[in-house]
Amino acid sequence: MASAFQTVFTYQGSPARVVFGAGTLAQAGAEVERMGGKRALVLTTPEQAATGQALCAQLGTLAVGQFSGAVMHTPVSVTQTAFNEITRTGADVVVAIGGGSTIGLAKALALRTGLPQIAIPTTFAGSEATPILGQTQDGEKTTMTDPRLRPAVIVYDVALVKTMPPALAISSGLNALAHAVEGLYAQDRNPMTSLMALEGIRAMISALPRLKSDSADLQAWAEAQYGAWLCGTVLGQVGMSIHHKLCHALGGGFDLPHADTHAILLPHAVSHVEPAVPELLAPVAELMGTRTAALGLQALAKSLGAPMRLLDLGLTETDLDRAVSLATERPYWSPRPIDRQTMMPLLRRALTGAPAQS
Ligand code: NAD
Repeated sequence: MASAFQTVFTYQGSPARVVFGAGTLAQAGAEVERMGGKRALVLTTPEQAATGQALCAQLGTLAVGQFSGAVMHTPVSVTQTAFNEITRTGADVVVAIGGGSTIGLAKALALRTGLPQIAIPTTFAGSEATPILGQTQDGEKTTMTDPRLRPAVIVYDVALVKTMPPALAISSGLNALAHAVEGLYAQDRNPMTSLMALEGIRAMISALPRLKSDSADLQAWAEAQYGAWLCGTVLGQVGMSIHHKLCHALGGGFDLPHADTHAILLPHAVSHVEPAVPELLAPVAELMGTRTAALGLQALAKSLGAPMRLLDLGLTETDLDRAVSLATERPYWSPRPIDRQTMMPLLRRALTGAPAQS
């Protein structure tokens, strides 16, 4: 097998202050003050409004308001309403407490106002560590990357992730794993991103089974949160490949649920790439103790009780032809070309939950 050592690369570090550990939410006020903020607007989803209220109470006079209207895919209309709250309150910092949806709203506001952001993640999605924003307007989603989108401070407090419902914790953890796995064979990878990706994968595959079997295992939640930070950082530094392309094509084309689609497709996407770059994925197979990384990822998803078949998400055999067309048009860069011949059997295996094989 060829050596995985890269002899030529470019590394661009991403500045962010990370405050990690149980109880760190208590430091949120100090973090607002540290960045010179005096008037924080707290953002949440409607479901996490109470979490926002508790944070506002904790911030005291540092909090000037709360906007609890964040929703999935950052609709521009919601951002406009939140923007009006910034104008009304004279906020000078946005504090997002929630998952990727809430952090997406903070990014959209930072883009329009230049205000600094503090992200306090409550899932493993990893958006807090990226300069990426997906926004929707008139039913169309556009994604952009801009250094101004990156939160200046991330506060990781394990007390906030351990309230995730089990299905969200598992799908969110597998979503994080997908960022790191694709980072391993990204065209613009470098030794630093590969180091972070492998450590993020190790942390996730160690922690997810433990927190599934014992939801009171704080050490496992914290290790998964640490893994999520690393996986998110990888997503923020390198381009994604076949797996993310398949997820966007199927998610957008058939309105399939984002997280479950990710969970089902990852082993199959990896099985396509693995023969082309075995040396890059061998460490994953080794961590999993399986013959291939693809089979290891599939066994992990199964053991965690994640969905295994696109059939269960509503896709049917008759949808496959269109699914393959969507997957192969405007393909992302991939270490192994994405074509109809290989995508049809791959998607059929994902449809029925057959073993992930190249
Ligand atoms: P989410 O933020 O949409 O949250 C899903 C639901 O779970 C919400 O109702 C939320 O309030 C609730 N929730 C979140 N944390 C909880 C907790 N600890 N306890 C109880 N309920 C909780 O889910 P997500 O998966 O974190 O984010 C998905 C969105 O983020 C998608 O729109 C995705 O495209 C985006 N995303 C963006 C990036 C990026 O880099 N831009 C990265 C990853 C995901």
